[in-house]
Amino acid sequence: MNQSILVVNCGSSSLKLALFDENEKKIASAMAERLNQADSFAHIDGDNQPIALPTNTNHKQALQALVSAFKEGRLMSEAPSSIGHRVVHGGETFREAVLIDDSVVAAISNCAGLAPLHNPVNLAGIEATREQFPDTPQIAVFDTAYHQTLAPRAFLYALPEAYYRDWAVRRYGFHGISHFFMVNEAARRLGKTPETTSIISAHLGNGCSITAIKDGLSVDTSMGLTPLEGLVMGTRSGDIDPGLFEYLRTRGVALEDVHKVLNHESGLLGISGQTNDMRTLCELANNGHEPSALAIEIFCFRLAKYVGAMMASLSHLDALVFTGGIGENSLQVREKTLSHLKLLGFNLDANNNDCHGRRTEGRIEHSNSRFPVLVIPTNEELVIAREAKRLAQAS
Ligand code: ADP
Repeated sequence: MNQSILVVNCGSSSLKLALFDENEKKIASAMAERLNQADSFAHIDGDNQPIALPTNTNHKQALQALVSAFKEGRLMSEAPSSIGHRVVHGGETFREAVLIDDSVVAAISNCAGLAPLHNPVNLAGIEATREQFPDTPQIAVFDTAYHQTLAPRAFLYALPEAYYRDWAVRRYGFHGISHFFMVNEAARRLGKTPETTSIISAHLGNGCSITAIKDGLSVDTSMGLTPLEGLVMGTRSGDIDPGLFEYLRTRGVALEDVHKVLNHESGLLGISGQTNDMRTLCELANNGHEPSALAIEIFCFRLAKYVGAMMASLSHLDALVFTGGIGENSLQVREKTLSHLKLLGFNLDANNNDCHGRRTEGRIEHSNSRFPVLVIPTNEELVIAREAKRLAQAS
């Protein structure tokens, strides 16, 4: 009997599919980009032949096209045994992954106000696969759910309490699927159980967040009501003084323009004036481009400050873990960040940092470091596939 698991990840203008076998091995993956735009396109990973998509292809049409391409390539012959969907915002309703039914669809839709760019497209993906595979169990796995264990002292803002009561204004946190994977992988590598493992997990991709995990549970995290809060990111500012809004208003800048700038024109891109891509920034900085060097400095300094802040939630620390495209690959970012944390007892081994950190796992701390420092490649698709398999079997 077919036991494949399909993982669906709908972004605002993209769709990623991954197909796993029953042994958690990835069989195939594919991606459609620039959806709902004039130049939509798609491809199966490892295949040079692009898949033709009509102009303004939507998420549903893209899903149909990619599933057909999987079938034509004999990567998939029948319906998968379960389908896992990444859903960005589960609000306070979802504390873990769930089997999707009509009430779950309605609840995800209710959370859409908190993630207007993401939840509606996540729902489009769910609708498309429910239509195409009506007999297959479908599971929603949320980016926010893992952080639902935060205590009020960590999730409430110092605002009038009616903001929380009436409008659900609080810190939710994101990248939960990745941080959950980190504590499980760190525990495995350290020979411990996740329930007894406490780590600080730094997910550094285009979006960046850091989470304190105590005995397997998220207890504090840097992203908040939206994924704008916290660390410096590719194009997002992270923390700023909210007084900026009023000040810019007096300068004639409209609120929606500030919002756009903070999300899309700030962070590494804003400071460097060149790019949001850390690899390119490192090259520019090495060639003497000072704004790029400054962008890296600010990125690492903010990150180091947050590592210190995350310590406040923990009673012991088993490891600091780096992941995401930057965390897994940038020796320079890891080195610069930890250079600010000597007082806390962190110390990197330059050789280990160099040998182990390139898209591979490894321990990179010096033997005299007070805490282990790990580089672990993230695998959010695998977490979604595992959850889909587990909940489908239990259904
Ligand atoms: P996303 O959040 O979109 O999934 P990734 O996790 O792939 O993004 O991370 C993208 C970031 O990782 C980019 O800033 C990219 O420059 C950076 N990155 C990838 N490889 C390297 C490298 N070798 N050195 C430095 N940065 C890298």
